[in-house]
Amino acid sequence: MLHDVIVIGAGFSGCTAARILAEKGKKVLLLEKRNHTGGNCFDFKNETGITIQKYGPHIFHTNNTEVWEFLNRFSLFNDYTHKVLSFQSGNFYTVPINKKTICDYFRLDINNVNITEVLKNEIEQSFFNDPPENFEDQVISQVGKNLYEAFFKNYTLKQWGKDPKNLSADIAKRVPVRDNIDDRYFSDIYQGIPAEGFTNLFIKMLDHPNIDILLNTDYFDLKLPYTPELTIYTGELDLFFDYKYGKLEYRSLDFKYETLNAEFFQPAAVVNYPGRESWTRITEYKQFLDEKSDKTTLCYEYPTNSGEPYYVIINEENLKKRNLYMQEVKKLEDQGNFIFAGRLAEYKYYNIDQAVESVILKLYQSIK
Ligand code: FAD
Ligand code: UDP
Repeated sequence: MLHDVIVIGAGFSGCTAARILAEKGKKVLLLEKRNHTGGNCFDFKNETGITIQKYGPHIFHTNNTEVWEFLNRFSLFNDYTHKVLSFQSGNFYTVPINKKTICDYFRLDINNVNITEVLKNEIEQSFFNDPPENFEDQVISQVGKNLYEAFFKNYTLKQWGKDPKNLSADIAKRVPVRDNIDDRYFSDIYQGIPAEGFTNLFIKMLDHPNIDILLNTDYFDLKLPYTPELTIYTGELDLFFDYKYGKLEYRSLDFKYETLNAEFFQPAAVVNYPGRESWTRITEYKQFLDEKSDKTTLCYEYPTNSGEPYYVIINEENLKKRNLYMQEVKKLEDQGNFIFAGRLAEYKYYNIDQAVESVILKLYQSIK
């Protein structure tokens, strides 16, 4: 069957594009090189009946009502509010850093503290470029050197395999600093996890007579006997252009799972480890969907340079290369037969909602 549109990659970007175009009457072929849809948000139930997110912990959060309403057509979301703790020297601390974190860390009386003064003193005693030029400057400018070293320095070295001075300040801006006791990881209006898991959301989203899906199929191995009117690419940006401006860097993760004969392991679904441990964080999955079991499954994350490209690495060098590739993208998109969308194809540190929003906007512009 001839398709009007080919979508490459069945993550949130590709599936959103497929659904919107199918509803506009286009015949869509969705290609995915993995053996499942859902991209990095794919989940499944393991042998204990706990829902495991195969590619690390994903919590949906957004302030964008259009994106929220679009996704709610395919799944209810539960009312899970993400909370994260940071474990060091035998203690759990609230992150993002808030009034409680600061009082616990410096052993101050939370009922009798001027937190603005404490932070001001910490920052004044610290050296950093002002305005901030990199990740380290950005964090120190907000909390000072002591809290930076305790909560960020080593976690960031482990996560990115780079000196934080060599990373963009924008990465640090993802994590707020609060002078109150709000301990939510995200402050967005809408947040939660699909009540039946992400995979079921994707099944519903792709359940449309105009969508055909080909799994285990790499676009670059496929010889299509026809040219579709539109191709939507959500894979790696540099690979598409055969690395003509050099390789962009991606950071990967090794996930190690462990099931314990215990009801719970840790006091929050995600605990960060900014210390000497070789993992960055541990996720206890049953806490996301409030699943009942006398066992619990944990996921340890070990960052690495080899493997699946989970994270784009935002620094000066990569952004320079990205700009060159994006000029090529613009030329192709302007001709009207291509759209590049998503975390990999736009080389952007997108959250789910940003990936969905970006593809929606690009489709509006393209199909008018
Ligand atoms: P992807 O999910 O990467 O999908 C791209 C798909 O394209 C993949 O399935 C890939 O196999 C396929 N593909 C690539 N090349 C080809 C090809 N040549 N042929 C065929 N198929 C191809 N966001 C949040 O909002 N909240 C979170 O809590 C959160 N946590 C995260 C935790 C981790 C560990 C990671 C890595 C990311 C997290 N994110 C989170 C970000 C979120 O995963 C992304 O924003 C979202 O998945 C992006 O969707 P995408 O479709 O652009 O990319
Ligand atoms: N970060 C940190 N310590 C923490 C949490 C975050 O150093 O306890 C830094 C780290 O560099 C991380 C970045 O802030 O990569 C962004 O954090 P976020 O939680 O957004 O990371 P993600 O969930 O995307 O892995």
